[in-house]
Amino acid sequence: MEQTVGRFAPTPSGRMHLGNVLCYLLAWLAARSRGGRIVLRIEDLDTLRAPLRYARALEDDLRWLGLDWDEGGLADAGPHGPYCQSRRGAVYAQALEELARQGRTYPCFCSRAELHAAQAPHLSDGRVLYAGTCRELSDEEIAARAARRAPAVRLRVPEETVSFRDLRLGPQRIDLTRQWGDFLIRRSDGVFCYQLAAAVDDARMGVTQVVRGADLAASTAPQLLLDRLLGLPAPAEFGHIPLLLSPDGTRLSKRDGALDLGALRRMLPGPQPILGLLASLCGLIDRYEPVSAADLIPAFDWARLPAGDVRLPAHLPFPLTGA
Ligand code: GLU
Repeated sequence: MEQTVGRFAPTPSGRMHLGNVLCYLLAWLAARSRGGRIVLRIEDLDTLRAPLRYARALEDDLRWLGLDWDEGGLADAGPHGPYCQSRRGAVYAQALEELARQGRTYPCFCSRAELHAAQAPHLSDGRVLYAGTCRELSDEEIAARAARRAPAVRLRVPEETVSFRDLRLGPQRIDLTRQWGDFLIRRSDGVFCYQLAAAVDDARMGVTQVVRGADLAASTAPQLLLDRLLGLPAPAEFGHIPLLLSPDGTRLSKRDGALDLGALRRMLPGPQPILGLLASLCGLIDRYEPVSAADLIPAFDWARLPAGDVRLPAHLPFPLTGA
């Protein structure tokens, strides 16, 4: 069997929080427990939201956690660079050109306000399915509108259901028309969108195993579709991990400053308490004890991960000093 290539694909829009740590820990364990490699790709498509200083802090935090990588990062180490998405515009433009050549794309002139006002189904996660307003514009209409406003680009999504087997969640079926509709490939300001960039990069960087939060499970469908349309080798495996929730069951966010890694690093002698806590919440160890990432390699097994999301305890099982 070919070697497993996993990846960390952070968007450095702030200091990482414990949910991010859980994601990189499990991605690292899933690859390392099979003797696999790790690629670090910086998902800074939106450079205003993801400044370089956060990417530097992120690399430093990963090293402190003991989660190393073999390829990529800010040093651009390896043959598939650049590894920062903000510098991969030419690669995405080429993919867009190929999709356009197939007649798979169209310009969309709808404003954000128009998208939300349209009589289109709203999905449970707050996204609005595109109503198809610009799908069948004539060449004349396109020219007239383009004179007034720069268009975004959408993919003409086929009526299809995408199936894959998730390493934790089991068989998944995602209806592209109902759950995605004609999704965006490039924004009107020229920034390429996540689905295209992630699909192209995972394939071009030789990633065989994608491990990320369960909130991105549905994104596997547009990404597999794009790989197929572009004739790219899709990752063989996808594993979507439990989301880490606050003690009250709400979503953890980078805004929960108290739990960001900057604060935790100031109050802890090393990463072992954090890793032990996350490993115990995920069933990799029976009860809390401080551990290193490497200690967890023999214990890693997808079957041990919980079926649902996990909550942080109201009281951490280790002391925070110097607060
Ligand atoms: N960049 C995304 C994030 O930091 C993850 C995307 C992915 O893993 O495909 O949330």
